[in-house]
This record gives sequence, structure tokens and C-alpha cells, in this order.
Amino acid sequence: MVAMVHVIGAGLAGLAAAARLADRAANVVVHEAAAQAGGRCRSYHDPALDLMIDNGNHLVLSGNRSALDYLALIGATTRLAGPPHADFAFVDVATGERWTVSINDGLLPWWIFIARCRVPGTRPSDYLSMARLLWGDKGKTICETVNCAGVLYDRLLRPFWLAALNTEPREASAQLAAAVTRETLAKGGSACRPLIARDGLAQAFVEPALAFLQTRNANVQFGNRLRAITFKAQRAVALDFGEETVTLGDDDAIILALPPTVAHALMPDLEAPSEFRAIVNAHFRIAPPPGLPPMLGVVNGTIEWLFGFSDRLAVTISAADRLLDTPREELAKNIWQEVAAVARLPKAMPPWQIVRERRATFAATPAENAKRPAAKTAWRNLFLAGDWTDTGLPATIEGAVRSGFRAADLVCPDNRAS
Ligand SMILES: Cc1cc2nc3c(=O)[nH]c(=O)nc-3n(C[C@H](O)[C@H](O)[C@H](O)COP(=O)(O)OP(=O)(O)OC[C@H]3O[C@@H](n4cnc5c(N)ncnc54)[C@H](O)[C@@H]3O)c2cc1C
Repeated sequence: MVAMVHVIGAGLAGLAAAARLADRAANVVVHEAAAQAGGRCRSYHDPALDLMIDNGNHLVLSGNRSALDYLALIGATTRLAGPPHADFAFVDVATGERWTVSINDGLLPWWIFIARCRVPGTRPSDYLSMARLLWGDKGKTICETVNCAGVLYDRLLRPFWLAALNTEPREASAQLAAAVTRETLAKGGSACRPLIARDGLAQAFVEPALAFLQTRNANVQFGNRLRAITFKAQRAVALDFGEETVTLGDDDAIILALPPTVAHALMPDLEAPSEFRAIVNAHFRIAPPPGLPPMLGVVNGTIEWLFGFSDRLAVTISAADRLLDTPREELAKNIWQEVAAVARLPKAMPPWQIVRERRATFAATPAENAKRPAAKTAWRNLFLAGDWTDTGLPATIEGAVRSGFRAADLVCPDNRAS
């Protein structure tokens, strides 16, 4: 049995690793550089809006089994809300058309044979031709594998893949798109129900994890930035936190659950993704108008998804690097114009906030995907976690949690089953 596990980073990968280890009665210390946990999946009080907001809208699908296992472990299953069926409302800002895609439960996709369930203007054969993605070539992009033109692509598949991979399908890995599609769309509606943390990301993914860790006597230290690791004879032997250096015992282990740039700086020989894509979120302090779906897909506009929370409307734009240099006010105004149009609201802009996450995820291209390291390293007591490690999935909550669970399993296998 390992003596002490140091988990570095309290994003979802680190929290998932720590929770699983604590559940297995391991001694765990979590070291987080920031003053709060959650990493790229966090909530905070925004002074401009005077509201608690999330750094970005986060969508989980009901087929994300690791994310749901994590919530079950930390006692937070009820913190995600979603409709009973996989219904996705869309609007086309260019034409004003509105439709709902309704994916039936079960493996047989009869929804594609019923006109009112599928995307208007599409035929069942359009969907069937997309199946070749599932057996796509590892080194190819989505658009080198399937036809990236036509109504089905514009109105359903591009929005779905862009949201899941945060990378334009023309450059995004077919392999990663296939993995997401296999675990969700291809399994039918019961694996595609959209789930949202209605009361904030912290309430669902972070605070229950910290409470769980506390009940298991795991120690979480904030403001504790790892600055260097000392290696000797195939092991990590010391962790330098600036004011304090932790000497590792023979049976101690480390899980590095850090962003790839930080992990690379601490372990220069580590190959890791080094290209990223941004996500822009806009928040408006206004209650959703009656009849607005909790989540609305928007095509042919700048905005891609509109989420209605009780006290605000929030917009997501993926692969948004093109918007990073647009002045904030200009961006807010442009986004609000579209929001007002699709939500049928007055033109006067309510209080707003723009959150730009420059390095929201690694670029899910075939080349970057090929750089992702395994959880095991050359150092016997050092393991990697994080959405950018080789999970087979794009950078998502599901991937982050799965990576944390996998690292925990390597450090401390579950003996209860045997
Ligand atoms: C705006 C936005 C929207 C998103 N939308 C979705 C979505 O809809 N659905 C979805 O599934 N995913 C979404 N994601 C992706 C998801 O948030 C990430 O995949 C996930 O949060 C990554 O978790 P992680 O633990 O791997 O990394 P991180 O969250 O980056 O965690 C790393 C942690 O390490 C800490 N750290 C850094 N350096 C040090 C150091 N030297 N010492 C100690 N600690 C350190 C950081 O402070 C951080 O807490 C979105 C991401 C963003 C940014």
C-alpha cells in the first residue's frame, strides 16, 4: 500500500483522483496553486454583474459515465439537471427557422426516420453516411473522413463536434470525434441527455468534492504552487513548493494533475500538447424570457449555444481564437444583438460580462492528439492526469475525470472487487 499520495492540482482531474484515492482509504494531500479548486471548471462572484457565474458554460451528456460516477462518489448526482429525453432546440439566425432534434432512447436510431425528430431538410441516408466516422483513420481530420457540407453538417454535426472538441471539424481529429460520438450519439438518446449544473459548476463539481475529501481526512492546501520536482534513480524524491520542500518517502506517490504547459515546465522531457483553442463566454444579467429552452443551439451566427439560468443568459462560442482581439464592448454588443433576436428580447443591453479563456482546451487536431502522454511515466512513483493526457477523448470534464480515476487506479488499485 502506498504511504502518501500528493495530488498536484485541484482541477477536476486532481479532484477525481483525490476522491477515488480517499475512498480507498489512501492518505492524500492535494496541493493547489490557486486560492480555489476547480481549475478551468469553476464559479466565482463577478463584480460587474454582482452574480455568481461560471468561467464558462459546461455541458455534460448522460453518456459521460466517468463524470456521473464522479458525481455519485462525491454525493452530487442531483446537482446536474436536464430534460427527461435528448431534445435539442436550435435556431438559425440567418433564416429565423427553429427546430428540435429529438433523439430516441435505445440503440436503434428511429429518430432519423421521423421527419419531426430529425433536422429539417435532411434525409435518413445523410445520417447513415456519417457512420463511417466511427471507423475513421487515426491521423485524419473529421472533414477528411466524412462530408463536411450540407444541411445535416451545418445544423447538427458541426455544432455537436465543435462543442465537444473545441476545434473546427476541418482540422479536428476524426478519432476524437469518433470516440465522443461512440459514447453518446451512437448509443441513443439515453446517452445524449444534456445535463447542466443549474446552480453553478462549483456547487456540482467542486464543493461536494472538497466536502467529501474533508470527511475522508484528505488535506487540501491552497496557494501551494509546485515549483520543481527532484528526481533520483527512477523516482521523484522531493517536491519544491517554494517556502516548503516535501521529501518523498520510499512508498509515496505523486499524481500531477496540472495543465500541460505547467507539467512540461516541471518535466522538460515530457511530450505534451502545446497548441490550444479559446472559448468565449458572454453573460448577461437578465432572467430568461418565458418559453426560452434552457439550452438553445444557434447556427449561422457568432453565438453557438445560449443557456438560460435563473438570473442570467450565458453564451458559449467555441474555437473562438478569432474573437480574442475584438474589444470587449464591441463583442458584448454583437453577441447581445444575436441573443436579443433569438430570445426575442428588447435591444437594450443588460449588464454584461465577457470571459475569454485563451487556453480553454488543447487543440484537438490529429497532431496534438498524437502528443498526449500516458498516465504512467518513466518515474516509478509519478503519474499524470489531466484532460490533455491520453484519455482517447477530447479535453472535457469526462476526459479529465477519467484521467484522474485512471491515475488513482495506478497508484492504488481497487482491492475490494477481488
Ligand atoms: C470556458 C470553458 C468551457 C468548457 N466547456 C466544457 C463543456 O461544456 N463540457 C466539458 O465536458 N468540458 C468543458 N470544458 C473543459 C473542462 O473544463 C476541462 O476539460 C476540465 O476542467 C480540465 O480539468 P483538469 O483538471 O484536467 O485541468 P485544470 O482545470 O486546468 O486543472 C489544473 C489545476 O492545476 C492548478 N495548477 C496549475 N499550476 C500549478 C502548480 N504549479 N502547482 C499546483 N497547482 C497548479 C490549476 O490552478 C488548476 O486548478 C470547458 C473549459 C473551458 C475553459
